[in-house]
Amino acid sequence: MGSPVNVLVLNASYEPLHKVDVRHAVRMLVRGVAVVEEAVEGRSIGHFPMPRVLRLVRYVTMRWRYGRRPSWSKPALRHRDGGRCGYCGRARADTVDHIVPRSRGGATDWENTVLACGPCNTRKRDRTPAEAGMRLLLVPRVPRWNELVA
Ligand SMILES: [Zn+2]
Repeated sequence: MGSPVNVLVLNASYEPLHKVDVRHAVRMLVRGVAVVEEAVEGRSIGHFPMPRVLRLVRYVTMRWRYGRRPSWSKPALRHRDGGRCGYCGRARADTVDHIVPRSRGGATDWENTVLACGPCNTRKRDRTPAEAGMRLLLVPRVPRWNELVA
């Protein structure tokens, strides 16, 4: 395991922007235009934790944490599921399915949503997959930051 070649840069609202190499990342930290959002545990580079993910900021703050979860959004869900329906695998799925339906208190979060095609979403309605006799092709989970960049 060498040092990570690429560091993911997020904008101030946590949306992934692009990747930079470690030297570029350190220059951004030195200039104070970014903070470390996720670090390689136990490693540092100069005064800084070895960055895995940077976030752009207006003001210099040296807060950093391990393992912040990417926040849920439909575009991010589309990245996580590769644009495919979680029930039939069809490409260009464009609806969000709540595995436990919202009408029964199901949350809009990473563990309770998958991308679904229109026909599968219509067929499932406000039922659980088991009730609808449908099987999920994937385990809904919190994605890693890197998975959210194409
Ligand atoms: Zn489908």
